[in-house]
This record gives sequence, C-alpha cells and structure tokens, in this order.
Amino acid sequence: MTAGPLVPSRRMELQDAERQLAERTDLTMTDRALLHRDAVYLALDLGELGMAMSHALTCLELARSSGDPPLQVKAHVALALVQADSYDDLGASTRFALADTLAREAGDARGVALVAINASHYELERREYGAALALLLALLQSPHMHSLATPDSTHLNSTFHINLVVSASESLLAGTVLPEQRAVVEAQVQVSAASLRRAAQSSGGMAAVDAAGVLDALTRYALWQGNLHTARSLADEHVQLTNTADLPVLYGRALLDRSRVHSLSGHPEGAIRDAEQAVQYFAASGLWEVRSRETLADAYARAGRYREAFETQQAVTRGVEHLYRDYHQQRALVGQVEQQAREAEVRAQALAEAALRDPLTGAPNRTRAMQVLGRLHDRAQQGHPSAIALLDLDLFKRVNDTYGHLVGDAVLIEATRLLSAELRAQDLLARLGGEEFIVILTDVPVGAAAAVCARLRDTLHRAAWSTLAPGLVMSGSFGVAALDGVQDVTATLKAADLALYAAKAAGRNRVMVAPAPA
Ligand code: GH3
Ligand code: MG
Ligand code: MG
Repeated sequence: MTAGPLVPSRRMELQDAERQLAERTDLTMTDRALLHRDAVYLALDLGELGMAMSHALTCLELARSSGDPPLQVKAHVALALVQADSYDDLGASTRFALADTLAREAGDARGVALVAINASHYELERREYGAALALLLALLQSPHMHSLATPDSTHLNSTFHINLVVSASESLLAGTVLPEQRAVVEAQVQVSAASLRRAAQSSGGMAAVDAAGVLDALTRYALWQGNLHTARSLADEHVQLTNTADLPVLYGRALLDRSRVHSLSGHPEGAIRDAEQAVQYFAASGLWEVRSRETLADAYARAGRYREAFETQQAVTRGVEHLYRDYHQQRALVGQVEQQAREAEVRAQALAEAALRDPLTGAPNRTRAMQVLGRLHDRAQQGHPSAIALLDLDLFKRVNDTYGHLVGDAVLIEATRLLSAELRAQDLLARLGGEEFIVILTDVPVGAAAAVCARLRDTLHRAAWSTLAPGLVMSGSFGVAALDGVQDVTATLKAADLALYAAKAAGRNRVMVAPAPA
C-alpha cells in the first residue's frame, strides 16, 4: 500500500490553508473557522503544537461568533486534541465532555459521533485501550452511528474502524475485555478490520497519514490473531510508508510499533535496533522520546541485557521529570491564551451590543427595534398579538432654538430614562432617530396599549423639565397600531405613523390609535 502520488504533503496543505486565511477576503466566518480547523489537524500531524493551539483558539472564537452549534462542536474537539497533545489531559477531557453535551443538546448526531471518535483517539494516545473501546462500543450501539453512513462522513467512518481495531485488538490481546462483551467485540473487530483491508486495497488516493493509521491498526489486529508473520510485514510497510512521506511524528512511532512486533515475535535484536533508532529520532522531543526509551528498556530486558535496561530505565525517569515540567508550562500557556481568547470574545460581544444601541441616550436603536419587531410579528402569526406606538416629541425644534442643542440632548436622554422606567422588562423603548421613538409592547392588545401610552404621555408632560432649563415644558404625540400578524411589520409601522400624524394634527400631546385594517 502506498500513498497516492497526487496527495500533497501535510506541510504544503498547512501552508495552503494559512495562505487562504491570509489572502482570501471572500470567505465566510464558517469557511474561516473550518480552514483554521484543517490547519489544527495538519499542524498536529506535523508536531507543530504552538501553531495548532493558535489555530484551534481562533477556530473556537469564530465558531462561537457564528452561533452554529455543530461548528462549535468541531472547534471544541480540535482544541481538545491540541490540549491532549500538550499533556493537558484534564483540559482535554473537560473539553470533550463539553463538546459532547453541546452536540447532544443541539441534536447534532454527527457531532456526537465526532466527539466519541476523537475522544477515543485521545484515549488511544494515552494507551487507555479499554476506555477507547468503551467509547466506540457506546457509539456503535447508539442511534448516532447512522450519521457515519453519509458520503461526507467517509473519513470519520474510516477513523472509527481504525480506532476500533486498535482498541479492540489491544484489549483482546491484554485480556481486558469483559466476558459479556467479548462476543460483540470479536465480531465487530472482524467487521472493522475487513473494512480497513478493503480501504487499503483501493488506496490509490489515500493520504499517507490515513494509510499509516490503517497499517498500524491491521498490525495490531494481526498480533492479536497470532499472525506474527503478517504483523511483521505490515509493520515493515508502515515504517517504509512513514519514512518516505512527510510525516515526522509517525515515522518514529512506526519504528516503535515495529520494535514491539519484533519483541512479541521473538526477535529481540530487531526490537533493540528499532527502539534505538526511535530514541535518536525523537531526541529532545518530550513524550515520544520517553516512550522510545521505555520501549528500548523493555527490549534490552527481553534480550537479557540488564545493565543497559537499567540505565535506559533511569533515563526514562529523568525524562518523565522533564515531561512534568513541560506539562505545567504548557498548561500555563494554554490558560493564558485561552484567557486572551475569552477577553477578545467579551470585546466582540460588547461591540455587537453597541451596534444595537443609540450612543446619545443608550436606548436600543432602530436596528434593534426591527429585530424585535420581526420576532413579535412571527409570534403574532402564532396567535399572540402585540402592539407598537410611534412617539414624536412635540415642538422639539423650539427646544433647540430656545435653549440650545445641549439642552435638547439632555431632554432626549431624560425622556428615554423616564419612559423606559415605565415599561416592563419584555417591552422596549427604542430611539428611531431625532426625537422619534418606538414603544414595543409585547403581548399587549392594542386597546391596552393605548392606555399604556396615555400613561407615558402623562409621565412626559408632568416631568419636572424646568430643572433642565427654566420654563421648559415637554410633551409627546403617540400613534398606536396593532402588531397582529395580519399586517406585516412595514404596514404596521405605516399605520402607526399615520395615527401619529393625526395626533399632531389634532393638537399634539395626545394618543391616537390606528383603525383596524379593513
Ligand atoms: P413636531 O411637534 O411637529 O414634531 O415638531 P418638532 O419641532 O419636534 O419637529 P421637527 O421635525 O421640525 O424638528 C425636530 C428637531 O429635532 C430638528 C432637529 O434639529 C432636532 N434633533 C434631531 N436630532 C437631535 C439630537 O440628537 N439632538 C438635538 N438636540 N436635537 C435633535
Ligand atoms: Mg420628528
Ligand atoms: Mg417632533
């Protein structure tokens, strides 16, 4: 099995994703989030943790802004994988749990499957084969499994089979499968292995990283079956494939896997050779260097070279201390970057809210009012009518002309405060522009709305305006109309405007109700 010649290298793919993010202006927020997510997976394959982390955080930020739950599930999963690779097990588990809850709440079946399969990958990386198997069996027996049958889930589906074969083979080999699950596990591992063999045979265009996963899984399956010859030739193929492809981490891992196959099939010298090569290959690279030394110590011991085994084991202990230090540094870094992301999110939210407010009075603006009207119109169509009123301050130009623009501004601010205080939480007073406002009364029939506006009119008229400027008196005219689901929002606004015009014409400081449409 070889990787297809037309498959671009992971590094080129990563560069391409970053170029698109930098240059393309036509991308939607969702497109950008998905590109950042691709970049996370590519950077992880290349062992570029810092880059993966930064893409994962941006992806999550965009996904949150988009408000699209399936996209957020994907973003959380990507970040969890980076956290797992940064030794942040606690952070990764918490995030997987969060993504799972999010997917279930949103009824996102594919999201639930995505979380389970990626969480199983994370358990496999920690060699928690039983935990990985439990996740995959639960998925297999759930209705969410159907979501893997769609064409755009081909890749996820093959990852399911790879992870199942690895976790089941290792658990069966170690004898840790519960007796009551043994039959199910044995049956499913055959099905999944057969599916991987089919994929391997038609692997012309399979990416090297996927082909490597298939070879790794089939090697473990062969080990469980006791086909040591098959296991060795698959392990050879795995090493060759990852050596020629641009897959830095996978090559060293393939050496370690082959070392183990040599050990289990009675070739201690081959086991030592591969493990030594892996130690060199992973020099100063954290977790994988430690694991290589562990494998090497084991191979020495099996070959009876106890002094070397002991020395190598000591190096493992020192390596683990370094890992702990790295772990704490990484956690601090992740925490810091996450904090920055959260602050950026709060800023973005503040900006989004500011866009819906009028800067002078702090009242909601026209855009906000139109959003609410749209919602209430839908609600009215479902049988819950509301009412609106347009309010225009009377002879406001004269206030400016007599007392100056600053007093005019103060009147607008004070009118907003007075009127808002009269309304319930579910109502809205918005400034449409100039000295014109809209009052939106949720679930209030038009008759009751007219009574509310009469009260507002009184409030305005009786306020102690003269404290703002000696002799100042204010009033307002109201045009009320029903938002009853019969007329659309535009027609309702027009009707209210006509009623307001009638109120002005009738002498101002009064409330007029639009006639019900014929
Ligand atoms: P009417 O009773 O017929 O509504 O008379 P009016 O004077 O209130 O109406 P008109 O539309 O002639 O004048 C509105 C004035 O409101 C004119 C404009 O300068 C003033 N205005 C609009 N926005 C602001 C603002 O933000 N601050 C101040 N101080 N004045 C404003
Ligand atoms: Mg006006
Ligand atoms: Mg006016």
